[in-house]
Amino acid sequence: MVIITHQRNKCIGCNYCVELAFNHWRMSKKDGKATLLNSVDKKGFHTAHVDNAEYDDNVRAANACPVNIIKVKMT
Ligand code: SF4
Repeated sequence: MVIITHQRNKCIGCNYCVELAFNHWRMSKKDGKATLLNSVDKKGFHTAHVDNAEYDDNVRAANACPVNIIKVKMT
């Protein structure tokens, strides 16, 4: 299992995560920030549990994020 966390309020809307891990990220038309699909919001930290196969793409997204607000952890 892989846990992805996104500190959404700090997102600058650059779109890198959507390009690199389209299975789990979309841009919001409402506020121009990225949304982590199927995530739960706890005090601004949006968390999703995904399959191990999704690890590499999401690590690439985390590494590309210019404001370093994506964390990816294999459990
Ligand atoms: S890469 Fe980071 S800053 Fe860019 S849209 Fe995704 S979460 Fe937001």
